[in-house]
Amino acid sequence: MLDLSLSEKTSSLLRASSTGWDMSDAIEQRLNLSQCRFFFDFDHTISKIDVIDDLIEHFAVDQKWRDLEQRWQSGEIGSEECLRGQFRSVRVTQEKLREYLLGIAIDPDFYRIFNLLKKAGVAPLIASDSFDLLIETILKNHDVQGINILANSLRIEGDRLIPSFPYRNQACLRCANCKTSLLCNEDSLKKVLVYIGDGRSDYCASLSAHMVFAKDSLAEYLRNKGKKFIPYETLKDVYKVLKGLSHE
Ligand SMILES: [Mg+2]
Repeated sequence: MLDLSLSEKTSSLLRASSTGWDMSDAIEQRLNLSQCRFFFDFDHTISKIDVIDDLIEHFAVDQKWRDLEQRWQSGEIGSEECLRGQFRSVRVTQEKLREYLLGIAIDPDFYRIFNLLKKAGVAPLIASDSFDLLIETILKNHDVQGINILANSLRIEGDRLIPSFPYRNQACLRCANCKTSLLCNEDSLKKVLVYIGDGRSDYCASLSAHMVFAKDSLAEYLRNKGKKFIPYETLKDVYKVLKGLSHE
């Protein structure tokens, strides 16, 4: 357990979040899982591939989505504009979508993390710039249930996917789902914020977390920003660290 009381701890944690924690900080602070709030990215963090990219490539009837993807990657447009535009090129029925999602694999160690956290009385959150319908269906296909999903919304009309964005932040249109707003709310006060992600939609939020597990472009981004992070390749690496912090 941390030596400081939770209320005394808050200010020191907020200071710590600017540079972040690595493993030695977590050990030094005698971090316990029940003191943490866990946020997982979904695409290419829990799922083995980037589902949105793959789905669009799979079902697009033209190539307009590629230009939008490049403009998003370069920072010229935000992800809402990108996704709305890309989905205009997609044609897929409910049946075809269901069939496609059956083929999406998730990292098998997510089960172990989910169960480890459950045992510690902690409910992890998925914060994703993908869509609730896709994530719920994929997790259900893999028998993962009872996890909070904070993502963009999607409905199907005929063969069209109609997106909406309940968590957008009008003050910043970079991301369709403002993960930073999801992290920095009242529920997060007095908690150690742990973020696990891989890419561009995780950049802002990871800067507000105390402890970040990062791979791929997120790792490069944090390295350039001088923020500490714990590198990982698969969720097996994350599980091993969390198991160590479970003090079982
Ligand atoms: Mg991702």
